[in-house]
Amino acid sequence: MSTRETAVTINPMFARPGEDTLVDRFRLPNGQMMPETAYQIVHDEVMLDGNARLNLATFVGTWMDTHAVRLYAETVDKNMIDKDEYPQTAAIEDRCWKILADLWHAPEPTRTAGTSTVGSSEACMLAGLALKRRWQEKRRAAGLPADRPNLVMSSAVQVVWEKFCNYWDVEPRCVPITEEHRTLDGSTLRGRVDENTIGVVAIMGVTYTGMYEPVAQIARALDDLQRDTGLDVPVHVDGASGAMVAPFLQPELEWDFRLERVHSINTSGHKYGLVYPGLGWVVWRTREHLPEDLVFRVSYLGGEMPTFALNFSRPGAQVLLQYYQFLRLGREGYRAVQGASRDTARYLADGVASIDAFELWNDGSDIPVFAWRLAPGAGENWSLYDLSDRLRMKGWLVPAYPMPDDLSDTTVQRIVVRNGLGLDLAESLLADIREETAYLERLTAPLPSGRPRAAFNHGGRAPGGGTAGRKPPPREGRAAPAGSGGGAGTAPAGPARRS
Ligand SMILES: *Cc1c(COP(=O)(O)O)cnc(C)c1O
Repeated sequence: MSTRETAVTINPMFARPGEDTLVDRFRLPNGQMMPETAYQIVHDEVMLDGNARLNLATFVGTWMDTHAVRLYAETVDKNMIDKDEYPQTAAIEDRCWKILADLWHAPEPTRTAGTSTVGSSEACMLAGLALKRRWQEKRRAAGLPADRPNLVMSSAVQVVWEKFCNYWDVEPRCVPITEEHRTLDGSTLRGRVDENTIGVVAIMGVTYTGMYEPVAQIARALDDLQRDTGLDVPVHVDGASGAMVAPFLQPELEWDFRLERVHSINTSGHKYGLVYPGLGWVVWRTREHLPEDLVFRVSYLGGEMPTFALNFSRPGAQVLLQYYQFLRLGREGYRAVQGASRDTARYLADGVASIDAFELWNDGSDIPVFAWRLAPGAGENWSLYDLSDRLRMKGWLVPAYPMPDDLSDTTVQRIVVRNGLGLDLAESLLADIREETAYLERLTAPLPSGRPRAAFNHGGRAPGGGTAGRKPPPREGRAAPAGSGGGAGTAPAGPARRS
């Protein structure tokens, strides 16, 4: 390897007298370095990362106000697990999940179980484990085998659910989405749900499109199933984004603990909870819905406090930032902020719909996220991946990616509107989409497809198909449109999905 590959060069302008101007890239340096120099190196390296404000691929918060930033700086040293050392932080964590339990209509919000996590992924794992353990206990108590659990969900779930099934030996039963059934809607549960089903996952804000799954309809289908077969199958709501949107924008919509079948709900504090990463939450319907033998005790104010988490040490600052947002915004503030994002999403969706080449998949009226595809006859010489590239040249990150099964031949492009993408910025974006689309439509021959085949694999799906010769989809979650930073091409291929 050349020096350039193995060493980081330091601009002589920043190196102090006597300091090296080369440091080994992959080995711990032998000597020390001036903090100013080290700072400059790290600072310069990350300068090449994208501009977070123009990143319309991520669901994760990229802006907080200066008071939040101050609070963050003051509390970065807090370890969430040290309940005894930081009893106030622990008390605030407790307040936050109780606030969420109340927001989501838990029957007894202050007496149920909940916790903060590093994100929805950890929260989903915990909720999934609780479902699995409860199912096992019920089966064993009835003298029935409890060794072949399965979980029923849409093929459009976020990658965390595939991970959950893989890591904890649960069979994933994915219900494919189709043109007619664009989300899991309960109509296709029969034949998939059986005595080994630990639960059904319903998503509030599908990562691919932002659509809500009709949780009430899914719950009703399970009620019918129970009436006919006696099977009592619980629902977990993955509200990574929607659980912090629906209470404010669609307060009448019943998707939460108002539905008795909903046993647990998770959300990402760092998505529409409006906090910097990484923060998630999970709340159970009642304390009984979290099996006692999953709970560990840590010392707290001379006594004990129950905890249920995969991590031990983790930052406590984000929890405090969440409480700050709760206090600062209140219901009214959250309604206003999410409402503004929704207005921007609706404006952009209308704009995209008015371009002949496109057809909306959904219109941004659930969470402020929408996707579109090429209209029949459009894109003879180009694809949405090319549009994504052209927009990237202008700084916008607007990913294109294939839909999950059974729609993997359909490519969509998606915009996630977050706090900070106002109407002005949206207008510029729309102008760029119009201009670049017009450019692509004027092509008289196909664009060369110079890219290597996608290295990226949707949880075991063979490369090719809709993704042939394409660049990897967005930078998020399940490699595709998931919903949190990183991980795109790096996730190991999971087991092939069953449908
Ligand atoms: C983002 C997302 C997740 C994962 O959440 P993190 O907070 O990034 O761990 C899970 N499910 C859905 C539906 C998501 O959008």
